[in-house]
Amino acid sequence: MKIYNTLSRTLEEFKPIEPGKVSMYVCGPTVYNLIHIGNARPMIVFDTFRRYMAYRGYEVDYVSNFTDVDDKIINKAKEEGVESTVISERYIAECKKDMEGLNVLPATVHPKATEEIGGMVELIQKLIDKGYAYAAKDGTVYYRTRAFKEYGKLSHKNLDELEGGHRQINVSGEEGKEDPLDFVLWKPKKEGEPFWESPWCEGRPGWHTECSVMARKYLGNTIDIHAGGEDLIFPHHENEIAQSEAANGVPFAHYWMHNGFLNIDNQKMSKSLGNFFTVRDIAEKYDLQVLRFFMLSAHYRSPLNFSAALMESAKAGLSRIRNSVSDLAYREANADRKELWPKEEEILSELGRLKEKFNEVMDQDLNTADGISVIFEIVRLANTAVKEECSSECARTLKEALNELCGVMGLVTEKEEEGSLDEEIEKLIDQRQEARKNKDFAKADEIRDLLLKKGIILKDTREGVKWERA
Ligand code: AMP
Ligand code: ZN
Repeated sequence: MKIYNTLSRTLEEFKPIEPGKVSMYVCGPTVYNLIHIGNARPMIVFDTFRRYMAYRGYEVDYVSNFTDVDDKIINKAKEEGVESTVISERYIAECKKDMEGLNVLPATVHPKATEEIGGMVELIQKLIDKGYAYAAKDGTVYYRTRAFKEYGKLSHKNLDELEGGHRQINVSGEEGKEDPLDFVLWKPKKEGEPFWESPWCEGRPGWHTECSVMARKYLGNTIDIHAGGEDLIFPHHENEIAQSEAANGVPFAHYWMHNGFLNIDNQKMSKSLGNFFTVRDIAEKYDLQVLRFFMLSAHYRSPLNFSAALMESAKAGLSRIRNSVSDLAYREANADRKELWPKEEEILSELGRLKEKFNEVMDQDLNTADGISVIFEIVRLANTAVKEECSSECARTLKEALNELCGVMGLVTEKEEEGSLDEEIEKLIDQRQEARKNKDFAKADEIRDLLLKKGIILKDTREGVKWERA
């Protein structure tokens, strides 16, 4: 597996710390609102990475946090006149629903910032003891950025360049800083805000500390992979490295993976710009699997422009796969010949070659776009086999391969509940046949229209009436 490492800006061979295992930390959302589909991009792509690594035999420990203390959460709580935990708990629950809809697996652990404050206080104390941090008179604790010689190694910025920028944003209230480059580790409470005890003042941690603490607690001092959207490279991930490496004296993460932005009209989709769609907005119009398919149709590091046209083409692509799987299932159940024909060995050896090709392209820094193209090659192979009236065994093998590779992408080809949906459709089709037999064509047409409304198209074939999703 080759991974593009933001740290070295090159494609590197993945070498796990422990053979056969992957430890991975992905920065999660700040929970003050429904997540938008830009936030869904890292969830989907890194979930796919996780599934792929598991498919290749790795045991994956996957940690992703919820930032549940933050100015935005506090402001929203004030607006609604409730405690900030009411807001954070509400949106954690909503986020989990969206993740389920997107078929994003729950993380091994989903730590919350407010439950890890003790660890953050310990980290800050350690940094003070080692000379990497200091408390100002008002109790704010700052990280002494210049003390960490490698600061800037992830974002490839140098300190002098940063200093120019930071002077301008050295806002009032931060007069206690020794240097404009220093960043906040702990800040004093403000009226009406949640706070915790600490040796410096009653207050709350700066944002960056939580990820350093949680990654270490659940995965260890050094982890294999740390990931998130590319907007997190600086300052968030740079600061996490400074904190963790200064405190622990070892590298924090071997590989840093960052997804590109989901854009709209070539502008980053974000809450602050107001140019966003929530996952819920999309769910009103589409099966969320279509959104997942759309996200995976581009390489995770490329910017991706959201558009209705691309969603429609994702919808059509997903339908093509699902129709092929359903044709294979039909063939598996209804073929006259059960066991493999000798001539079908060729189809299955082609299938084997395509499965290898899938691994090859996915091994290139998780090239899901090419991975999907390989799935379509299998769809073409399957459709030809069905047309040539393949055996049950051949149909079953092709169907299982499609299910397996789509499963790696987190794409569901045969929904469990579709079993009952299928039954309902079959029943309607039987009723329509019955109506036609009785020459009640009005009723037959009515049923056909009803099925069409459900997105089901009927096809008369030699083997009887078959149906597929539009
Ligand atoms: P936030 O809640 O803003 O901290 O974001 C949670 C995750 O979503 C982070 O990994 C961000 O980098 C990522 N993210 C936010 N907006 C976008 C976007 N438009 N495209 C891709 N990733 C994004
Ligand atoms: Zn983080």
